Amino acid sequence: MAHSRPSFRHGAVSALLLTPLLVGGAEAAAPKARPAEPVIVIDAGHGGRDPGTISKGQRIREKEISLAISRKLASSLAKKTGARVYLTRSRDESLTLDQRDRLANWRQCDLFLSIHANATRNSKTQGVEIYYLNRATDEASRRLAQRENQGSRGEKEDYELILSDLLQTAATEESALLAADVKKTLLKKMKPQGVPGVRVKTALFYVLVGAKCPSLLIETGFLSNSQEARRLKRPDYQRILADAIAEGVANYLRSQADRFSDL
Ligand SMILES: [Zn+2]
Repeated sequence: MAHSRPSFRHGAVSALLLTPLLVGGAEAAAPKARPAEPVIVIDAGHGGRDPGTISKGQRIREKEISLAISRKLASSLAKKTGARVYLTRSRDESLTLDQRDRLANWRQCDLFLSIHANATRNSKTQGVEIYYLNRATDEASRRLAQRENQGSRGEKEDYELILSDLLQTAATEESALLAADVKKTLLKKMKPQGVPGVRVKTALFYVLVGAKCPSLLIETGFLSNSQEARRLKRPDYQRILADAIAEGVANYLRSQADRFSDL
């Protein structure tokens, strides 16, 4: 895709021992020059020693749902956008939140999507929540961020203090536009699947602080609701969900290309 790149790009390349999965490409060697096509890094939340949230009755683990959806999202994005798509993990392994960010920046991400599944005390709550980085606007978002931030293992517990600086370079405006495009296609495609709603929210997710590109954390559904947990386990449902997210991202990239071609 030929378009000028927005000014939030940082070009730092750092050594990292992870070998990511390259979807739709030939090799996974360290990047030497910027590829012409957009680079999208998908982060399958949790993994290895960290199962994430676990559904009560069915013992469905977030780490498995996030990986299954991330894999489908990677192949769907490669097809729909022609982007180079990388996964932070392609199997059941432990990664710190910092490692996920470092991988995204090493790949010089244009977009970073962290995939998760939600849980809350109210077992009736269902739906998809799309987060971008900003101050939490409600108590539920604050609690969720606390849980999802546990993977940072206290490496930077003062991250709230440094956040005000980071927010200025965190491509917040682009992330909000991306969130709106993904919400639009999710609403259209997931309503017929029984998903009652799609909400865009903000919170202080540590994994979004470090990625130097527009970033979303998508809570794909509530494992604390038995109906939604059953849905999230179905490969056909995962495919529809992944395709809907990919379509929203494709729409965002098209509108971004239009906007930046005018500069
Ligand atoms: Zn999670």
